[in-house]
Amino acid sequence: MSSKRMYISSPHMSGLEQEYVNHAFETNWIAPMGDNIEGFESDLENFLGNDSKVVALNSGTSAIHLALQLLGVSKGDEVLCQNFTFIASVNPVLYQGATPVFVDSESETWNMSPELLEQAILNRIENFKKPKAIIAVHLYGSPYKVDEINAIGRKYNIPVVEDAAEALGSCYKNKPCGNLSDIGVFSFNGNKIVTTSAGGALVVKNEKLKEQAVHLANQSKDLAEHYEHSKIGYNYKMSNVLAGIGRGQMKVLENRVEARRGNYSFYKSELSELIGITFLDEDYDSNSNRWLTCILTESFEMRERIRLNLEKENIESRPFWKPMHLQPVFKGCLSFVNGVSENLFNKGLCLPSGSNLSKEDLKKVVNVIKKACK
Ligand SMILES: *Cc1c(COP(=O)(O)O)cnc(C)c1O
Repeated sequence: MSSKRMYISSPHMSGLEQEYVNHAFETNWIAPMGDNIEGFESDLENFLGNDSKVVALNSGTSAIHLALQLLGVSKGDEVLCQNFTFIASVNPVLYQGATPVFVDSESETWNMSPELLEQAILNRIENFKKPKAIIAVHLYGSPYKVDEINAIGRKYNIPVVEDAAEALGSCYKNKPCGNLSDIGVFSFNGNKIVTTSAGGALVVKNEKLKEQAVHLANQSKDLAEHYEHSKIGYNYKMSNVLAGIGRGQMKVLENRVEARRGNYSFYKSELSELIGITFLDEDYDSNSNRWLTCILTESFEMRERIRLNLEKENIESRPFWKPMHLQPVFKGCLSFVNGVSENLFNKGLCLPSGSNLSKEDLKKVVNVIKKACK
């Protein structure tokens, strides 16, 4: 086994983060408030443009939870969720005492199928259970069919939560992901394209919603000299120290996207000649940040052969997200499926994709895969 493990997506600091972190120490704002938080929020707002308002939070999961709160999702409500995703997209539905209903993917973007979404909505309306929200995901950085999903949301008057946790730096029709539907979510977890070690953000359309979100994230502490609370709140604000890391990371976001897109191009040019390996191409509408390079193999056996050979060389790779309708915890939940996500789960593999991988690293991965496919 070679000595140093190669990871799918490890943190990549630029060196610029330290200055902001030091600033937090020097000013002693080692707290969930301070200059770095305001700075990081405005960095994100400037990046997104379009009058976006951003609230920095302690995780992407918290951001989804607050999004559902702002939309009034509560006990007994149904929420339509993308079936092919990481479970953090869905868990907050349960935190609210609401019920997820899963909608499978289409094969062009691997994200929520607009056709199935509409079928699901009509079915639930027929059953007097009009869904309260839709959670769509730009999985692996590839934008979902934004215009189609938004149009369905508007047609039935159901708000769309945009889970852009994996898609900071991706674009749809030249507009940055994160502020494309009704309310947006980012994650800055350690494995994401830029990281604050742990963190997230909520993207809303106006200052009033931002104030509501900040209030909820701060234990719903009312204005008073003493501690006064008229509703349930949460402890979800981001640390000012970690926001400092985020400020440094935002300075190199473009560079990180370029590097990850470079990884994808290299893998694709080297591997698409192999029989049985395919890639998810971009269509004219979208630019993926290529958070992870994903390959689709011919069969479960082929996928496993590649994965185990990489593992032997101490190279991490991972099967795609397991669809929610197959998760034991969601047994018995209603789902609208077409086989797309289950097929992806059986045959898909995420390759090492970090922006800090060297050309030698990538060549090594390619060589192992080529040998495994011989
Ligand atoms: C990472 C991720 C989240 C959750 O973000 P955390 O910051 O880890 O809580 C949500 N949705 C998707 C699709 C993710 O990949």
